Amino acid sequence: MKTINSIRRILYDSSVADTSIAAKFLVLENVEKISFDNEAGLSLLLDKARSDGIPSKEVLVLKEFRGRLFQKCPGSMGMICCNYYLINTCFDCLFGCSYCFLRLYLNSYGITQFTDISSVKDEIDFFLKETKRDLVRIGTGEFTDSLMFDQISGIALDLISFAASRGGILLEFKTKSDNIDHLLDAADKRGTVFAWSLNTPVNISLFEPGTASLEERISAAVRASAAGYFLAFHFDPVIIYEGYLEDYAAVIDELFKRVPADRVLWISLGGVRFPPSFKEILRYRHPDEKLFLDEMLVSDDGKLRYLKLTRKEIYSTLNDLIRKRAPRTFVYMCMETSGMWRDIFNLELSSSDMLEEHFLNHLKQNFPDAMPAPAD
Ligand code: SF4
Repeated sequence: MKTINSIRRILYDSSVADTSIAAKFLVLENVEKISFDNEAGLSLLLDKARSDGIPSKEVLVLKEFRGRLFQKCPGSMGMICCNYYLINTCFDCLFGCSYCFLRLYLNSYGITQFTDISSVKDEIDFFLKETKRDLVRIGTGEFTDSLMFDQISGIALDLISFAASRGGILLEFKTKSDNIDHLLDAADKRGTVFAWSLNTPVNISLFEPGTASLEERISAAVRASAAGYFLAFHFDPVIIYEGYLEDYAAVIDELFKRVPADRVLWISLGGVRFPPSFKEILRYRHPDEKLFLDEMLVSDDGKLRYLKLTRKEIYSTLNDLIRKRAPRTFVYMCMETSGMWRDIFNLELSSSDMLEEHFLNHLKQNFPDAMPAPAD
């Protein structure tokens, strides 16, 4: 698995060098460190790193984030979304998943670690008070992997302690790493959920280079559960090939042999999907890519997806397999149509708000012991 050790050059804004997050990266050994004073200076340094032949994922940029630290998942037009909220901690990722939408950012180079996210706690506090919500699901792994640098950045521990004391938050750290050992002794784990994206060994080796193996991910989940955390898993994206259903069934089997089902709060299912432009980008930059061997069609939100019958087969088979082993776990589909919800789950959902309400009610009823302290 790739780790922080694969970073060869750190470019840092001189004005953030003393922030607690940047300072922890700047003491790393065996990494070249170069400062810049403004965006023009950074641009020159990025050009230099490119011309020195350093791959994008081996350059780390430390700078302040000037965008929105806390936001709602943008979802997908016309699709039912779970109304997840995001904390932006970092942009881009050590790992190189073939299907990753970050590949659409053609001109992006380097991984950018934001150096001060402390104000996000006030933003979340304000949001909870304004909306009078008693529970919200928030994650950090939308534009990055939640834990890939975490033993250095210390972001997760800080947020775990915030979630436990603030209440009203289910905080999800989503990862394809096994980098959790520095978090096992957190003093108060209420409100935190560790989540792993899972796939078959075939798909991991073809499409998820640099990530932890299936065995490493499941072992990390076992350690997290033994330490007292609740868990979640994501079979997303499911990528089909000859015999894929048997292989996914074997993964689910192995998972529930090792992980106690009563610690698994939710599992998502999602067929692989892309904007059509992604296909062209991959064809041009990665002509050997095997992601598009199966038939796909553009759906209502403009994304390429497997045909409806194929998606139904994926969701109904995986849902049945999971329910047999984990009847209390909330199983849901990420970005699917209301018709698919009716067909697979026999649920009439006409909006994302309805799914969110159903999701949170399910958790409250089935996992009262996992619910965070009430919002203050
Ligand atoms: S782990 Fe996630 S963010 Fe990282 S490359 Fe894979 S899909 Fe993209």
